[in-house]
Amino acid sequence: MRLIMKFGGASIADGEKIKWVAELINRYREHELIIVTSALKDVTDHLLERADAAADSGSVESVHKVIEYMRDLHNTAANIAINDPVILDQVLNELDARIHKLKQALTGIGYLGELTSRSKDYISSYGELLAAPIVSGALRSVGMSSVHLTGGEAGILTDSTYGGATPLDSTRERICQRLTPLIGKCVLVVAGFIAEDENGITTTLGRGGSDFSASMIGSAVHADEIWFWKEVSGIMTADPKIVPGARTIPQISYIEVMELSYFGAEVLHPHAIEPAIKNNIPVRVLNTFEPDFTGTLVVRDQERSAGVVKAVTVIEDIALINISGAGMVGTIGVAARVFSALADAGVNITMISQGSSEANISIVVEESYLTGAIDAIKTEFKNGMIRELTADADVSAITVVGAGMAGSPGVAARVFTAMGNNKINVITISQGSSEHNISFVVRGKDARSAVRALHSEFSPGD
Ligand code: ASP
Ligand code: MG
Repeated sequence: MRLIMKFGGASIADGEKIKWVAELINRYREHELIIVTSALKDVTDHLLERADAAADSGSVESVHKVIEYMRDLHNTAANIAINDPVILDQVLNELDARIHKLKQALTGIGYLGELTSRSKDYISSYGELLAAPIVSGALRSVGMSSVHLTGGEAGILTDSTYGGATPLDSTRERICQRLTPLIGKCVLVVAGFIAEDENGITTTLGRGGSDFSASMIGSAVHADEIWFWKEVSGIMTADPKIVPGARTIPQISYIEVMELSYFGAEVLHPHAIEPAIKNNIPVRVLNTFEPDFTGTLVVRDQERSAGVVKAVTVIEDIALINISGAGMVGTIGVAARVFSALADAGVNITMISQGSSEANISIVVEESYLTGAIDAIKTEFKNGMIRELTADADVSAITVVGAGMAGSPGVAARVFTAMGNNKINVITISQGSSEHNISFVVRGKDARSAVRALHSEFSPGD
């Protein structure tokens, strides 16, 4: 099989863990393997924070401290992860050369006293640039042959939108051309998250972007499967911190996983698996520290037999905006104006609901957008039409997800009966006509009991 395996920061947090990951990969040595690695845990955050500090303070002393910290962290990890002294020596030399460049860049930022988004990408790329040689060295140390590549070397070419660049159309072809001759000859270790633009300048794919790197590479080289090794037991039926009886979902469809991720089950971002979905490549979410557990398989086809509801999720930090006024009834363009005003203000909308009386529109946004959203709507309608504009941040959104709900009568009844039986008031409801999810808003204090009530009503995963 041709497999892409992606490891997150917590899976390779230190030398012991990297060593374990190398042994884990070694179990699959008969396959064609491409490994996509992220930075060691918290390193990206640390780099960005320290780059900010260097720009603010201009202190060379502070640059010295970051560099020593980074050197120590990565050298220690390499020393533990790599047994073979010759390989270790090679890796330490590579790390040294990269750390030297990082030092020069940070020093420059300190002198200039400014940090552009382009420099931020350059600095943050060092998390993955330092992780990849260690992972590759650890693989060689357990007897596999391996080389490591940057995202750019692997063929990922993007526009120049620093901080969240978009791959160009030619990326697929380039990845395929560059990697195909090497696949099967050795284990390729690709630094996730980072890429380059047409001028060879380092770009990044946005925070958490190494999942996206993995699916892009997987789809370009026609992988049989893409495996995301995480620190959780796959995708679960609910947050186990809220529902102690939450279980791993053994199989889920792309559509369902998209519905889930939008609602805060942050295991896999929908954007990250888009390339896999387009090319119909099965995706697995596995647990690095429980490798025999089968995790969750994400595939195109929906498994209808497996119960109507797959999962119940909650987002707590949201706010509800209510717009009402008799002037809105039958007036064309009100919704368009609301949504354009919000879009212009950079507000992302999580949920929308309008009843057929047309006298009010309810919009759910993340709490951090609330002030901006209210200002934007007020400005847009300063000349009347809207009679009342209210906002409520003390609310949470609950979502019930499952492709099996489509065309299956009685699901909504069961959802809302469960709420009624638990004396939970439902404030706003929304269901897209795909019928793959029912979302509704409740008071913040009711959110967790709502999730538990629904989980026990539908027993997903049984
Ligand atoms: N290291 C990057 C980040 O922390 C990318 C990733 O981990 O996926 O955002
Ligand atoms: Mg809230």
